[in-house]
Amino acid sequence: SPEIDRARSLIRVVQDHPVPGVAFQDITPLLADARAFRACVEALVEPFAGSFDVVAGVEARGFLLAGAAAMLTGTGLVPLRKAGRLPAPVASASYALEYGEAAIEVSVDLHTGDRVLVLDDVLATGGTLAAAARLVRERGAHVAGAACLLELESLGGRAAVPDAHALIRV
Ligand code: IMP
Repeated sequence: SPEIDRARSLIRVVQDHPVPGVAFQDITPLLADARAFRACVEALVEPFAGSFDVVAGVEARGFLLAGAAAMLTGTGLVPLRKAGRLPAPVASASYALEYGEAAIEVSVDLHTGDRVLVLDDVLATGGTLAAAARLVRERGAHVAGAACLLELESLGGRAAVPDAHALIRV
């Protein structure tokens, strides 16, 4: 759509961040634009309308989308936090990084049977979004869907999350 095309044009590419050779996709200008931000949040939730009761946002930029999506759809929000940040985590999912491993954790606020929409900003290798879905299932909750603003197709992350809804692909 024209609104999503406009949102795409607002993503800023920062060369050599966080390390030389990486072209970092910076969504900050998109979030700062009222029309683009709203259009993206609406389009992120649209395929899953009525099929979820909780939005789970992945730390940190996933939180920005998840808060807006939860308010828009009248649902609750549960943060999926980096290991060590929650006061009382009850489940954890680890995943591979380029060098080493990371983990995300969730609190008791995600319940058995909850229907969950998982949101993050960027799908790169897919490890993060796949771990988020595993974490939701670990709690006995149901993954209604997983969605991201931007998919970096060349990294092949879709293999890890075949059903992910990506608004913009580069
Ligand atoms: P993955 O686990 O390799 O798919 O990486 C996805 C995670 O890394 C997401 O939580 C993103 O926030 C972050 N990420 C990876 N590449 C980028 C980028 O170019 N821009 C913004 N975030 C990124």
